[in-house]
Amino acid sequence: MSDNNTPVTVLGLGPMGRALAAAFVAAGHPTTVWNRTPRAVPGATVADSPAAAAARSPLTVCCVVDYAAARQVLADRPHSTVVVNLTSGVPADARALAAGGDRYLDGAILTPTPTIGTPAATLLYSGPQAVFDAHRPTLSALGGAVYLGPDVGAAAAYETALLDLFAMAVGGLVHAFALADAEGIPPESFARFAAGIGALLPDLAGRFAGQLSTGDFPGVPSSIGSARSALSHVRAAAAGHGIDTAALDGVWALFDRAVAAGHGGEGYARLVPFIREEIRTARRLNPGPAAPAGVSCAAER
Ligand code: NDP
Repeated sequence: MSDNNTPVTVLGLGPMGRALAAAFVAAGHPTTVWNRTPRAVPGATVADSPAAAAARSPLTVCCVVDYAAARQVLADRPHSTVVVNLTSGVPADARALAAGGDRYLDGAILTPTPTIGTPAATLLYSGPQAVFDAHRPTLSALGGAVYLGPDVGAAAAYETALLDLFAMAVGGLVHAFALADAEGIPPESFARFAAGIGALLPDLAGRFAGQLSTGDFPGVPSSIGSARSALSHVRAAAAGHGIDTAALDGVWALFDRAVAAGHGGEGYARLVPFIREEIRTARRLNPGPAAPAGVSCAAER
């Protein structure tokens, strides 16, 4: 149930910001909006600057392209407003933006724009519990709200890990369709069987979680060793058609190193602690900056 008398400000009116503002308006909240490129949302008041917009509400939702933009937009916000930053980013950026203030919640939107304002939307929030509890009735206008705890980086941590899964899955889909195409398989025919592979993922995710909590990684029904062998065939077939195999090579190399370390007979979930072990070993041998070259985070700026 949304507490629909509370004024709300939305900074950023891209497709998602517009959906957020429209949901607040639809729930009856007096809504003020601001966007770098002037833009309106039916039923909302347009302000001249982010600071003027934020000054009109006890709650300001920011949703722009990245944290660099969010930092600019939020730079002059008045202390009177609580900020809920729904911009996508990495946990370090969320923690840096929150630093020094207890009136900041970070958040992540897990569902696309058409779901916003409906029960199908899922939004994650992290930061001070009292702040979340105070504004939960207003935030419920956007859809399902999940509070992850006081670590303000938690929402971005979940979001980045989930985006990792999404990006690799979409990359896999693209690569598989390209290989199928190179083999002359009609897309509709391939899609029928590809859907079956996708349907395996929920069960696999549950099994991963169970095995990671017990530390027992049975190599049935599939083992790392047999998957490495299957991956070799896929790499050869793709390379034979001139399709780039860099992503597959990376996955194959991980499986190969795990087999070399004696884990060939274990299940796929064993690769998760294996990656952690590899990181520890690399850091012991080469202590240095945590982020690889080219990866930026707020702490380094
Ligand atoms: P974009 O990610 O393209 O963001 C566009 C918004 O960012 C516009 O309001 C744009 O202003 C603003 N912006 C860009 N640079 C700056 C800047 N330097 N200063 C101020 N404002 C700036 O579109 P979305 O609305 O789709 O996404 C917003 C956030 O929501 C992103 O972090 C995205 O990852 C996240 N998200 C989006 C989803 C979706 O389905 N769209 C789903 C889940 C999360 P201008 O109009 O002036 O260019």
